[in-house]
Amino acid sequence: MGIPMLQAARIGAYLMKQQLSGRKRYPLVLMLEPLFRCNLACAGCGKIDYPNEILNQRLSYEQCMEAIDECGAPVVSIAGGEPLLHKDMPRIVQGYLERKKFVILCTNALLLAKKIDDYKPSPAFTWSIHLDGDQIMHDKSVCQDGVYEKAVEAIKLAKSKGFQVSINCTLFNDADPERTARFFDEVTAMGLNGITVSPGYAYERAPDQQHFLNRTKTKELFRGILSRGRGGKAWPFTQSRMFLNFLAGNEAYKCTPWGNPTRTVFGWQKPCYLLGEGYAKTFKELMDDTEWDKYGVGNYEKCADCMVHSGFEASAVKHMITNPIKALKVQVGGIRTTGAMAKDISLDNQRPADYVFSGHVEKKLAEIRATAPAKGAKHGPRVKITRSPGGAGEAGPESIVAAE
Ligand code: SF4
Repeated sequence: MGIPMLQAARIGAYLMKQQLSGRKRYPLVLMLEPLFRCNLACAGCGKIDYPNEILNQRLSYEQCMEAIDECGAPVVSIAGGEPLLHKDMPRIVQGYLERKKFVILCTNALLLAKKIDDYKPSPAFTWSIHLDGDQIMHDKSVCQDGVYEKAVEAIKLAKSKGFQVSINCTLFNDADPERTARFFDEVTAMGLNGITVSPGYAYERAPDQQHFLNRTKTKELFRGILSRGRGGKAWPFTQSRMFLNFLAGNEAYKCTPWGNPTRTVFGWQKPCYLLGEGYAKTFKELMDDTEWDKYGVGNYEKCADCMVHSGFEASAVKHMITNPIKALKVQVGGIRTTGAMAKDISLDNQRPADYVFSGHVEKKLAEIRATAPAKGAKHGPRVKITRSPGGAGEAGPESIVAAE
């Protein structure tokens, strides 16, 4: 199994407590993005398209601790940007461990060998190495040769030092089921503790808009992969079987965006890890003031193709708790990869996409410059905003270019 017993037991107890208390919305995993700066520029990533002044922002140790104290989720997933570029990252990880949280530290692994001795192995701490497939698939995905090899070396190094190591794998519409299944065989043979797999979300800022999966293709792809791995039982997935069952088209869930609340340098991101439609100053404000019904598949154009784990894992977990017998059948029997698929949510009444990115960037830049006026006025880049055609939605995404 991809989830250690201790983690499963503690999260299970947390979930039961929330259910019994009748709490309607509660978080499961805090998604922390303490910086957007990265040392790669992947074609499918929409996270690094900010002016330098924003890329230079960091959440402080205190802000990172405040985020978990505010939301109370049992798990923290630290992403970015590249978290290992944050100089306080070892202290941040340690702070979460001292609060008895499970910590998943995502990294592209380029800096792992240099930084690994700043961390200690723990059953509550997992390195999650970005690996989008075999050598050709991954190097293409990250737009740089040699990254796959470094990631594999990093996995071996971390395993040799006694760490728990998983991979996070995003699949696009050029993924081949047979090849992906062989890749999962190979990484499983490396002794990985887990595989987190997800279809890519069509970030409106991602340079490559051609290779994102739509819902039908996602389900077909996952059926093709899982049918080669004994209905998913051959590999140590970190996700629930019910989520994989959803990816294979056997369930049609609504998303649970509050299940993975996201804290970035902008604040608490509304409504989810994938969409930045607004920002709240506090977790309470995020939960109380977000108009949740405006989002989700069928409600909003930008959500139409989303089947990403940060949006739907919490839905699958809730389904598992409320339908334990069905969940047990999927667990024991494996995921069905043939036959009719569940009827999906209609997109007929979804509202059109809003393009709000440039407004948030301008606001953040104004805040940064107000707190460091002399530096900002003298050295800050001018920001030119243009619109480019294509991308997610008919109007096309706004495009921001930082000019020195
Ligand atoms: S469906 Fe929309 S709101 Fe829900 S997780 Fe996906 S992008 Fe976020």
